[in-house]
Amino acid sequence: MTETTGEMTDTAGQERPARTGRASERLHKEADRRWKKVEQEHPELADTVAFGRGLVNLYIDELPAAGRIALTPEAARAKLAAGQPLLEDEQLDLDLPGVRRFFSSLCSWAGDQPDLARDAWAVKGAVRKGTLDVDDLIGAALDGDQARIDGVAARLGVQPTLIQTLTGFAVSAALMETARTLAPTLEEAGAAWEEGFCPICGGPPLLAELQGSEGQRVLRCAACGGGWKFPRVQCPHCGTTDAAKLHYLALDEEAEKYRVELCDNCHGFIKSVTSFAPTPAELLTIEDAAMLHLDAAARERGYTPAPEAEGDEAEGRAAEGEGRADGAQAEGGGR
Ligand SMILES: [Zn+2]
Ligand SMILES: [Zn+2]
Repeated sequence: MTETTGEMTDTAGQERPARTGRASERLHKEADRRWKKVEQEHPELADTVAFGRGLVNLYIDELPAAGRIALTPEAARAKLAAGQPLLEDEQLDLDLPGVRRFFSSLCSWAGDQPDLARDAWAVKGAVRKGTLDVDDLIGAALDGDQARIDGVAARLGVQPTLIQTLTGFAVSAALMETARTLAPTLEEAGAAWEEGFCPICGGPPLLAELQGSEGQRVLRCAACGGGWKFPRVQCPHCGTTDAAKLHYLALDEEAEKYRVELCDNCHGFIKSVTSFAPTPAELLTIEDAAMLHLDAAARERGYTPAPEAEGDEAEGRAAEGEGRADGAQAEGGGR
């Protein structure tokens, strides 16, 4: 999908091809396998699984194509070295027809959820009548303009959390393919990246993966699904490397696969999954759901997934954050 000309990561002027049938078939099978496992191990999550299945199906079937961005390898290296995400302050030419299609399907899907139905259909109706501009909504989320998003909710008379949730999912969809396109650029230039937020879009980590036989720790972005290497013994929130402050919680029977890592320096936590291969971005929601019990256990003990949310680091770097699978909490998109 990406053409590297040697100078630029430039996808301008190309077709935006849809995913091949075989690739999406593979993803559907893999999603189904993972959901079944979550269902078996956590029968109490039946509603969450039903909700999440629909969302993941949309990510697989209706993902917008990659946004276009022109960035030289030198510029990419300079940005990363300065701690600046690649997409920040760049002109990102999104696949807007694809994003609009996704948003419309998203509203229909939400319209089937009993708790969301009334508001979801109101939103879809507003899009159809032209009283809600999806491009503008996505733009507001990418700018981290929460007030503009809440203004839309007030104008349409719907729950702000619903608009935030739908917008967060749509921004994720808009950025997933973009992040995949930028992964080689990141790989080439990313050695200097030492931050706990996404080097592509600036979003917060959704979870950590321990990848491959060596257990390389990779943080996965809550907004774009991108991944970046991070030291094994370091808190992604406050950066402490004091091993005495870092510990984890896990159920005995699954401690090798799932755990939640806690930091006593900032009282932040991050969920962690041991995965042989990187989880496809479309399926991260499933791994997130598989660890909801650990999420709850960490919160009960007074830890939070976003301890810096009030600080300057995270400000304006809103992304959908936790709760993707149950849709309970989402805060607009990355940037
Ligand atoms: Zn990201
Ligand atoms: Zn910390």
